[in-house]
Amino acid sequence: MNRDTSCLFCRIAAGEIPCRKLFEDELILAFEDIKPQAPFHALIIPKEHFPTVADIPVESGILIGRMVSVANQLARENRLDSGYRLVINCYADAGQEVYHVHLHLLGGRKFHWPPG
Ligand code: AMP
Ligand code: ZN
Repeated sequence: MNRDTSCLFCRIAAGEIPCRKLFEDELILAFEDIKPQAPFHALIIPKEHFPTVADIPVESGILIGRMVSVANQLARENRLDSGYRLVINCYADAGQEVYHVHLHLLGGRKFHWPPG
């Protein structure tokens, strides 16, 4: 499994940096965003290091399905019944700051469209 020892989210996945964990299995980790942009804001990551969603090869595409399934489960558990948003930022213009692919799960407020 690819790992980058200088990557923040690899270090969180390895337990070297603490997080408020919401879900974990052999492939996926979910934790609270440190700077929430909504009343509920979780990050769902693969434990394997891929810098961006564009780096996930087709044979690892199952990871995206697993990330979305975990997000849906967290949304159910946290009663985000009136709506939630799933976001993957890719590259700088989209606002990506951490180069370990992650899915944002945001809920608990109304979101605008188009996004800013
Ligand atoms: P992005 O801009 O899509 O790359 O999102 C990166 C997200 O990671 C931001 O929402 C940050 O608030 C969040 N973040 C950065 N450092 C941490 C950390 N140590 N623990 C939890 N979330 C973090
Ligand atoms: Zn990483």
